Amino acid sequence: MKIVLFGPPGSGKGTYASRIAPIYKIPHISTGDIFRGHLAQKTELGKKIEDVMKSGNLVPDDLTMDVVKDRLSQADCKNGFILDGFPRTIPQAEMFDKMEKVDVIVNLVVPDEIIIKRLSSRLSCKECKTIFNTLTLKPKIEGKCDKCGGELFLRDDDKPEQIKNRLEVYRRQTMPLVDYYRKKGISYDVTCDRIDIPPEEIVAKILKVLESLK
Ligand code: AMP
Repeated sequence: MKIVLFGPPGSGKGTYASRIAPIYKIPHISTGDIFRGHLAQKTELGKKIEDVMKSGNLVPDDLTMDVVKDRLSQADCKNGFILDGFPRTIPQAEMFDKMEKVDVIVNLVVPDEIIIKRLSSRLSCKECKTIFNTLTLKPKIEGKCDKCGGELFLRDDDKPEQIKNRLEVYRRQTMPLVDYYRKKGISYDVTCDRIDIPPEEIVAKILKVLESLK
């Protein structure tokens, strides 16, 4: 199944996608994680996108498309994938339409107050990228990843000024995609309107949508 998990920053895309991917035996592809990998490795691409990413703005469409094309051409994508954080602009979606026929867009609907609280309390593992949250999804040992023991860190773009900018960028550049996919009839809303909803509950709602399409 070819799935796009769509929603504002902090809507839980990464958390849910990482739980759904093993169920469908498909890779979880996060363009944000791929770009952060380039930053960490200091690749040529990493150097080009460093400032854009730190400010919470979007990486240019041509660079993003190159990364996505490359990733989707890998063997593990032959039975499908779950995309998290792509597409993020109308031109990306139009170019993506020419490459792949997506089965479903799951649109996470989350109020702003929850997003802001979540992002400012989110921690990610430096090693395995697992996401924790100091309010709702605490690690067992403070500062350490439950899965691999890696160090947990607050992303540069999860700081207050950057969060504000990312939400503006989302509204301006990414929100128009909700209508774009709705018109195609393949978009399904899943609402999360309380910060303390356990991830399993939202995952169950998403799975219900996916199962209904089989
Ligand atoms: P995320 O982890 O999805 O919140 O992405 C973190 C950052 O990576 C974003 O703020 C952008 O700078 C960049 N990024 C991730 N996905 C995309 C995309 N599809 N298009 C452009 N920039 C992206």
